[in-house]
Order: sequence, then C-alpha cells, then structure tokens
Amino acid sequence: MIGRWQPGPFGGIDVPDASKSRGPEHRVAALTLAALLVVGAAMGTINLFVNGVLRDGAPRWLYAATMGLCIVAAVPLAVRRRASRWHTFGLVLLGDLIYLVIVFCIEDPVRYATPLMLLFPAFVAAWFLGVWELLVNMVVTTVVCLVALWPSYDSAVALGVQVGVSAGMLNAGALGIFILRVRIQRLLMATQTLSHLDPLTGLHNRRYLVEQAPRLWRQARRDGTRVAAMVLDLDHFKRLNDAHGHAAGDAVLRAVAGSLTATVRPADVLARTGGEELVVLGLVGDPDEAARLAERLRSAVSASRTDDGHAVTASIGIALTRPVDGEDATDALWRLVDRADAAMYEAKQQGRDRVASMWVPRARSPLPGENRAVPEAPASDVA
Ligand code: GH3
Ligand code: MG
Ligand code: MG
Repeated sequence: MIGRWQPGPFGGIDVPDASKSRGPEHRVAALTLAALLVVGAAMGTINLFVNGVLRDGAPRWLYAATMGLCIVAAVPLAVRRRASRWHTFGLVLLGDLIYLVIVFCIEDPVRYATPLMLLFPAFVAAWFLGVWELLVNMVVTTVVCLVALWPSYDSAVALGVQVGVSAGMLNAGALGIFILRVRIQRLLMATQTLSHLDPLTGLHNRRYLVEQAPRLWRQARRDGTRVAAMVLDLDHFKRLNDAHGHAAGDAVLRAVAGSLTATVRPADVLARTGGEELVVLGLVGDPDEAARLAERLRSAVSASRTDDGHAVTASIGIALTRPVDGEDATDALWRLVDRADAAMYEAKQQGRDRVASMWVPRARSPLPGENRAVPEAPASDVA
C-alpha cells in the first residue's frame, strides 16, 4: 500500500551530503590527472623520434623512462578512480620534476619545452589543492621556471623578466582558479544548506529528514536502540487562519517551531514536512522514552504564544521501529511515519491536543495535566 507519506516524484533526489562532497571531486581529479599524464607521455614520446629535439649526449633512456613513469603513474589513478589531496599534491610535484627532466634532455627548452608545459600541474593544483599546498606549488613553479630557463639567457635581467612573466602568468592563473573554486564551493554549500531548510520556520524540511534516515537507522542498529517517529499536526489551524488571517497563522507556525526546537534533544531531527505538519525523528531506548518526549513536545506547542498572544495545540502520533540489517532506511522511514500518522489521526479522534501511540505501553495513570490517548495497536506495530 502506498501511504500518503510515501516520497513524491522528487522524493528520491540525491542531494550530496556536505561531508561527502569531496568524493566525486577527487574522482574527477584522479581521472583528469590520469588523462593528462597519458596525453603528456604520448606527446612527449614523439620527441624521441624527431631529429634534433633531444639534446646530443642526453640520455635517451632517461627521457623514455620519464615518459614511461607518466604512464605508470596514470594506471592506479585510472583504475582506482580516487586521488586524495596529498596524492594530488604528490602528482603535481611529480609533474614539476618530470618537466625538469624534459628540460634537461631537450635541445632548446625555450622552443620545445616552454614553462607553459607547467600549465598542467599548476592548474590542476589550483582546483584541487588546499591553501598551503597551493602556495608550495606556486613557489616550486617559480623555481622550476628559473631552472628551466637559466641556460637559455645570458643576462640576469632577461632571465628575471622571462621567469617573472612565465611563473607570474602560471601562478596568477592558478590563483584565479583557486579563488574561483573557493567561491563555487561556498555557493554550493550555501545552496545545499538552503535546500535543507523550510523558509517560513527555519526548520529542516522533508528532504533533510529523508537524508538523515540512513544515519539514524545505522546508529540504531549499532547501538541496539529503536527509531521513534513523532508526527505533529496543529489542531484546527484552518480556523485560526480564518479567524485571524494567514499572517497570524504564519506567526503561530514560527512560534511553534521555536518552542519545538528548544524542546527536542540535540540529536533529534525536527522537520516541517507539510503545511502545519511536523515530524520529529529520534533514537529511543524504549516506548516510554518516546512517550515522554512526545508529551514534552505537546506541552511546548500548547505553551507557545505569538507576540499577539495567539496559541495553538497539536495532536501527536508516535511509532517505533527496531531497524534490521539489509532494510532500506528510506522505505522504513516512510512506513514508520505512516504508522505515526495513523496514530496522530487517532489522537485527533480522541479529542486533539494529545499524544497517541502505535503500541500498547505499560498501563500507567496519566501525569497531572497530561492528555493521552492510547489506541489499540495490532501486534505487528509493537516495536
Ligand atoms: P485538524 O485539527 O483536523 O488538523 O484541522 P486543521 O484545520 O488544522 O486541518 P486542515 O487540514 O483542515 O487545515 C490545515 C490548514 O493549514 C489549512 C491551511 O490553510 C493551513 N496552512 C497550511 N500551510 C500553512 C502556512 O504555511 N501558513 C498558514 N498560515 N497556514 C497554513
Ligand atoms: Mg494537517
Ligand atoms: Mg491540522
């Protein structure tokens, strides 16, 4: 049966987690570096067969071995498709070293191996490295330009100008790319944060709730605890809108969001999933712990007030599950929320402003001031 909480057509959108966003980027780094190494080696190998390019007396085996080294370095990158930050940095320095070997073997570096060849390590570095590695690479680039151009210029001034122009261009370009990357990354992070928030209340939204499910399910399996879902629906909210206007309704939603945020435990996930519907997802040791939390949430809602003194109550449904191995966390989440939703409707039917649960807890008298409706639950719902 497809419940009304089942994810909609866009529910399955895969929004990358900020902490994992470097994964695909490093895959791109690995493949880019591998491709550049292979292309560089292929083009460099042509020099072995063109007369007058390699310097007389330069060891051809060294040049050939360097081209071979490029291919060898490319293989693990292409196969593993992973390059860590240090891996990338090491390869960039290797690129600098390879350039020096080429300069040493080639007849006229100014003609056949200009410092522009360093575009490859300099630009790849700029996109993928951290600040310190980039700075080191900029210094290394300058030194390499100096060593490469040294034999070609008699005057120190001419050499200085050429090194300044070559290294300056390379480093300025690299710095520009680095700044661009930082700005793009900041923009992506801001967009990702916004995509997890509800603009009216500032609470997390449905997408965030779905993304958190695998983490909660994993943790519950590891700790042997249960996942509790609490569905909160504000009571007679339409009446409040009709009586005092939509703006007053919005203010009530914001006040409720503030009270709930102050009431949930730090590790709980609180999300606004629909108009006046919210979900709290958290780990609990037993049903009573979930019931106590839900009761605190109910009191927090009824105690919240807007600046104009408007207030509202909420009906809350609870359901629990004990995650099992191999279970799809997103499917399990919506099954759980469907059950909590059914319990919430029970609470509505029992008179609203109360908590109802999809299990039969130990009998106990309600606490003073506590409204509690406990529907009969099928055995399969007892978590
Ligand atoms: P019940 O106790 O049975 O839940 O009654 P209810 O009036 O809360 O439920 P109903 O589903 O009939 O109405 C929900 C109302 O919530 C209707 C809609 O206008 C209002 N609503 C939904 N989203 C917003 C919102 O963002 N701002 C405001 N002000 N009202 C909203
Ligand atoms: Mg509703
Ligand atoms: Mg309602």
